Amino acid sequence: MDAHLRTSDPAIWSAGDCASFPWKGGRIRLESVGNAIDQAEAVAANILGAGEVYQAKPWFWSDQFGLKLQIAGLNTGYDRIVTRKGEGDAASFWYYRGADLLAVDAMNDSRAYMIGKRLIEAGISAPDGDPPRPWHRIKASDDATTLWYAVMRRREKGIFIGTLTLRHGDHHALLLERGWEEIPVEELRDRELPVG
Ligand SMILES: Cc1cc2nc3c(=O)[nH]c(=O)nc-3n(C[C@H](O)[C@H](O)[C@H](O)COP(=O)(O)OP(=O)(O)OC[C@H]3O[C@@H](n4cnc5c(N)ncnc54)[C@H](O)[C@@H]3O)c2cc1C
Repeated sequence: MDAHLRTSDPAIWSAGDCASFPWKGGRIRLESVGNAIDQAEAVAANILGAGEVYQAKPWFWSDQFGLKLQIAGLNTGYDRIVTRKGEGDAASFWYYRGADLLAVDAMNDSRAYMIGKRLIEAGISAPDGDPPRPWHRIKASDDATTLWYAVMRRREKGIFIGTLTLRHGDHHALLLERGWEEIPVEELRDRELPVG
């Protein structure tokens, strides 16, 4: 399958368990009802000419007797698990690689699942995995939302100009490429930026 879920025969498309498609530089098949439905919708749209690139948002649920298991993301490559106890018998397991949140397994904990799913799909990590400087945290006061930002500067016509950039997305890499540099936030607190 290519990124549009079309096979090497342009008249044949594929969705569901049998469909191997591009994913983060490799290929993957996802065996879940959610993926089968999402891919079927993407294939139908593409047959009608939508030209949609399939963006997988892996999730899975299963009811096993009294246990509701809900999974968001894929934990392949994780190096750390953070366990969070919910109310009663609820619990969730948060998988990280470095500071990046990869997946959440939630047992009888739909709230943790929903929060984890939204964070993963938005490419945002929950507070437990702090990335190293120059990243600084902006944290919402009443939920798990965390954004990371860096302060950047560039000298233009003899003076420094500054901007903020968020960690997720390609803006930061673009700024570095264009000659911007990162400034430690502590430095900003201590003194004004030098003008030269
Ligand atoms: C035991 C088990 C438990 C699971 N539990 C969960 C779960 O809790 N949650 C979850 O998200 N996913 C679960 N899954 C996975 C989920 O069932 C699959 O990912 C999903 O059904 C895939 O959908 P599909 O349309 O790709 O394939 P299928 O649902 O397998 O549909 C393929 C269809 O093609 C038919 N077929 C095959 N060959 C031919 C042929 N030659 N001609 C005509 N028809 C043919 C088959 O009979 C079948 O009806 C489970 C799977 C199994 C086996």
